[in-house]
Amino acid sequence: MCATRSIFTTRQLRADGLTHRDITAALDTGRLERIRIGMYASPDACRAARAVAAHGGSMACVTAARHHGLWTLDDEDEPHVWLKTGQRAHHESACGCVEHWDRDRRRTASGPLPLPQVLRQILGCRGPEQFFVAVESALRQGRLSSDELRWLRRNTNARGREALHLARTDADSGLESLLRWRLRRFGLRVRTQVAVFGVGVVDALIGDRLIVELDGRANHDGATMRHKDLVRDANAASWGYTTLRFDYALVIHDWDLVETAILGAFASAGPGAAASA
Ligand SMILES: [Zn+2]
Ligand SMILES: [Zn+2]
Ligand SMILES: [Zn+2]
Repeated sequence: MCATRSIFTTRQLRADGLTHRDITAALDTGRLERIRIGMYASPDACRAARAVAAHGGSMACVTAARHHGLWTLDDEDEPHVWLKTGQRAHHESACGCVEHWDRDRRRTASGPLPLPQVLRQILGCRGPEQFFVAVESALRQGRLSSDELRWLRRNTNARGREALHLARTDADSGLESLLRWRLRRFGLRVRTQVAVFGVGVVDALIGDRLIVELDGRANHDGATMRHKDLVRDANAASWGYTTLRFDYALVIHDWDLVETAILGAFASAGPGAAASA
């Protein structure tokens, strides 16, 4: 992922005061690279940005969301490209891109697509779950105005509105959003970032007795962290709580196991849990 301004048209470079000679010199020294006629990239432009520029389009959907700084599920490389109606796309052979052709919602003729449009593209292209995760990520960062949320409600389907209705502003990670989205059909009471007496703030409390900790990719490695986690789980157990821990790989790649574990532990976590179901 790269800076927002890593791709330039000839016109933009000229507007920034570069002469044709400056551009040629920048190309010679590698400060700029020609992507195609009239389109240039600075060295920090990432693969997705280059691929989108080579298509002659703009970043769309999950590719755009990542560049907006939102949490997205897939790290996969194929770029999602938005193309203007009537435009001709320039595909490479065996191009793995995903095209988006929805209406231009930008207020100006150029620049990135607005976030609400990007979110709606995700709903259509990747489904309500990824939409939900991206929306919660945007809300958490304070990036959606009430007008934009209203626009989304009006311009999405029933699944989209369900996601918008469930979305909150305080999701601490994409894993937390996923957990709440995927458990919603069981009618469990799932509270996130709850202070539990004798334990501290836990990622999720299901019912009254089941703690779920979601360990992100980086921050739970090493012997010291492991020891801390064990102490924490022992404390929780002494207060009558059951703790389940899941990492990124389990939640993303083995959800069935996660779900079975949660439902099994919930069923046996005792009357406290059952009472609040
Ligand atoms: Zn980038
Ligand atoms: Zn897409
Ligand atoms: Zn393509």
